[in-house]
Amino acid sequence: MLAIDHTLVGAAIGSQIDNIPAVVGLGIVSHFVLDFLPHVDPGTEIRGKEIRPVVKYFLAGFDIFISLIIIILVLMLRPQLNRTAVITGVVTALSVDLIFNVPFWNSWFRKTRPFSTIHNFHEMIHKPLQKYQYNIGIPLQLLIIAVCIWFLLK
Ligand SMILES: [Zn+2]
Repeated sequence: MLAIDHTLVGAAIGSQIDNIPAVVGLGIVSHFVLDFLPHVDPGTEIRGKEIRPVVKYFLAGFDIFISLIIIILVLMLRPQLNRTAVITGVVTALSVDLIFNVPFWNSWFRKTRPFSTIHNFHEMIHKPLQKYQYNIGIPLQLLIIAVCIWFLLK
Protein backbone atom coordinates (compact mmCIF):
# COMPACT_ATOMS: atom_id res chain seq x y z
CA MET A 1 0.00 0.00 0.00
CA LEU A 2 1.25 3.53 -0.75
CA ALA A 3 2.98 5.40 2.10
CA ILE A 4 0.40 8.17 1.57
CA ASP A 5 -2.40 5.76 2.60
CA HIS A 6 -0.48 4.38 5.59
CA THR A 7 0.54 7.80 6.91
CA LEU A 8 -2.90 9.38 6.44
CA VAL A 9 -4.67 6.52 8.22
CA GLY A 10 -2.04 6.76 11.01
CA ALA A 11 -2.66 10.53 11.22
CA ALA A 12 -6.43 9.93 11.35
CA ILE A 13 -5.93 7.49 14.25
CA GLY A 14 -3.69 9.99 16.07
CA SER A 15 -6.22 12.76 15.48
CA GLN A 16 -8.86 10.85 17.48
CA ILE A 17 -6.88 9.24 20.32
CA ASP A 18 -4.59 10.97 22.82
CA ASN A 19 -3.36 7.72 24.40
CA ILE A 20 0.07 7.24 22.74
CA PRO A 21 0.45 3.44 23.38
CA ALA A 22 -3.04 2.95 21.85
CA VAL A 23 -2.02 5.05 18.83
CA VAL A 24 1.14 2.92 18.43
CA GLY A 25 -0.85 -0.33 18.58
CA LEU A 26 -3.60 0.83 16.22
CA GLY A 27 -1.02 2.37 13.86
CA ILE A 28 0.78 -0.97 13.49
CA VAL A 29 -2.50 -2.92 13.12
CA SER A 30 -3.68 -0.41 10.47
CA HIS A 31 -0.53 -1.17 8.45
CA PHE A 32 -1.37 -4.85 8.12
CA VAL A 33 -5.08 -4.17 7.45
CA LEU A 34 -4.21 -1.76 4.60
CA ASP A 35 -1.58 -4.11 3.14
CA PHE A 36 -4.18 -6.89 3.06
CA LEU A 37 -6.44 -4.78 0.80
CA PRO A 38 -5.79 -4.78 -2.97
CA HIS A 39 -3.21 -2.12 -3.87
CA VAL A 40 -0.42 -0.99 -6.19
CA ASP A 41 2.77 0.58 -4.86
CA PRO A 42 6.46 0.82 -5.85
CA GLY A 43 7.20 -2.44 -3.99
CA THR A 44 4.52 -4.42 -5.86
CA GLU A 45 5.18 -6.02 -9.21
CA ILE A 46 3.91 -3.76 -11.99
CA ARG A 47 2.04 -5.87 -14.58
CA GLY A 48 4.09 -8.95 -13.73
CA LYS A 49 7.45 -7.17 -14.14
CA GLU A 50 9.76 -6.28 -11.30
CA ILE A 51 10.67 -2.57 -11.57
CA ARG A 52 14.35 -1.55 -11.43
CA PRO A 53 15.57 -0.93 -7.84
CA VAL A 54 16.63 2.66 -8.61
CA VAL A 55 13.17 3.49 -9.97
CA LYS A 56 11.47 1.61 -7.11
CA TYR A 57 13.36 3.50 -4.40
CA PHE A 58 12.89 6.84 -6.17
CA LEU A 59 9.11 6.26 -6.34
CA ALA A 60 9.01 5.08 -2.69
CA GLY A 61 10.97 8.19 -1.61
CA PHE A 62 8.63 10.42 -3.61
CA ASP A 63 5.61 8.67 -2.04
CA ILE A 64 6.99 9.33 1.48
CA PHE A 65 7.92 12.92 0.55
CA ILE A 66 4.35 13.69 -0.67
CA SER A 67 2.98 12.01 2.51
CA LEU A 68 5.07 14.28 4.72
CA ILE A 69 3.97 17.40 2.79
CA ILE A 70 0.29 16.42 3.25
CA ILE A 71 0.80 15.70 7.00
CA ILE A 72 2.60 19.04 7.52
CA LEU A 73 -0.25 20.85 5.69
CA VAL A 74 -2.87 19.04 7.82
CA LEU A 75 -1.03 20.01 11.03
CA MET A 76 -0.80 23.63 9.84
CA LEU A 77 -4.49 23.77 8.89
CA ARG A 78 -5.66 21.99 12.08
CA PRO A 79 -3.44 23.41 14.89
CA GLN A 80 -5.85 22.06 17.52
CA LEU A 81 -4.88 18.45 16.69
CA ASN A 82 -2.61 16.63 19.18
CA ARG A 83 0.62 16.79 17.15
CA THR A 84 2.40 14.15 19.21
CA ALA A 85 -0.45 11.66 18.69
CA VAL A 86 -0.77 12.47 14.95
CA ILE A 87 3.00 12.14 14.33
CA THR A 88 3.12 8.93 16.40
CA GLY A 89 0.27 7.54 14.27
CA VAL A 90 2.08 8.51 11.05
CA VAL A 91 5.40 6.94 12.10
CA THR A 92 3.96 3.71 13.52
CA ALA A 93 1.55 3.20 10.60
CA LEU A 94 4.54 3.37 8.22
CA SER A 95 7.02 1.63 10.54
CA VAL A 96 6.53 -1.89 9.18
CA ASP A 97 7.61 -0.77 5.69
CA LEU A 98 10.45 1.35 7.13
CA ILE A 99 11.80 -1.64 9.06
CA PHE A 100 11.43 -4.31 6.36
CA ASN A 101 11.79 -2.39 3.08
CA VAL A 102 14.58 0.16 3.57
CA PRO A 103 17.70 -1.39 1.97
CA PHE A 104 20.23 -0.19 4.59
CA TRP A 105 18.92 -2.50 7.31
CA ASN A 106 16.12 -4.65 5.82
CA SER A 107 18.25 -7.78 5.28
CA TRP A 108 19.16 -7.93 8.99
CA PHE A 109 15.52 -7.56 10.09
CA ARG A 110 14.29 -10.04 7.46
CA LYS A 111 16.71 -12.73 8.70
CA THR A 112 16.68 -12.18 12.49
CA ARG A 113 14.04 -13.64 14.79
CA PRO A 114 11.45 -12.52 15.87
CA PHE A 115 11.47 -9.87 13.09
CA SER A 116 11.72 -12.55 10.38
CA THR A 117 8.35 -13.96 11.51
CA ILE A 118 6.75 -10.52 11.24
CA HIS A 119 8.41 -10.06 7.82
CA ASN A 120 6.98 -13.38 6.57
CA PHE A 121 3.51 -12.38 7.82
CA HIS A 122 3.88 -8.95 6.15
CA GLU A 123 4.76 -10.63 2.83
CA MET A 124 1.99 -13.25 3.15
CA ILE A 125 -0.91 -10.82 3.70
CA HIS A 126 -0.19 -9.09 0.38
CA LYS A 127 -1.00 -12.21 -1.62
CA PRO A 128 -4.73 -13.14 -1.26
CA LEU A 129 -6.25 -10.05 -2.92
CA GLN A 130 -3.36 -9.29 -5.29
CA LYS A 131 -5.37 -10.20 -8.40
CA TYR A 132 -7.59 -7.16 -7.74
CA GLN A 133 -4.65 -4.77 -7.44
CA TYR A 134 -5.55 -2.71 -10.54
CA ASN A 135 -9.35 -2.78 -10.89
CA ILE A 136 -10.09 -2.36 -7.18
CA GLY A 137 -6.71 -1.47 -5.66
CA ILE A 138 -6.09 1.83 -7.48
CA PRO A 139 -9.58 3.34 -6.87
CA LEU A 140 -9.55 2.03 -3.28
CA GLN A 141 -6.19 3.68 -2.53
CA LEU A 142 -7.43 7.00 -3.96
CA LEU A 143 -10.66 6.69 -1.95
CA ILE A 144 -8.75 6.05 1.30
CA ILE A 145 -6.55 9.12 0.63
CA ALA A 146 -9.61 11.32 -0.10
CA VAL A 147 -11.59 10.09 2.94
CA CYS A 148 -8.61 10.56 5.28
CA ILE A 149 -7.90 14.10 4.04
CA TRP A 150 -11.60 14.96 4.42
CA PHE A 151 -11.67 13.36 7.89
CA LEU A 152 -8.51 15.19 9.04
CA LEU A 153 -9.66 18.59 7.77
CA LYS A 154 -13.40 18.44 8.63
ZN1 LIG B 1 3.64 -2.87 4.21
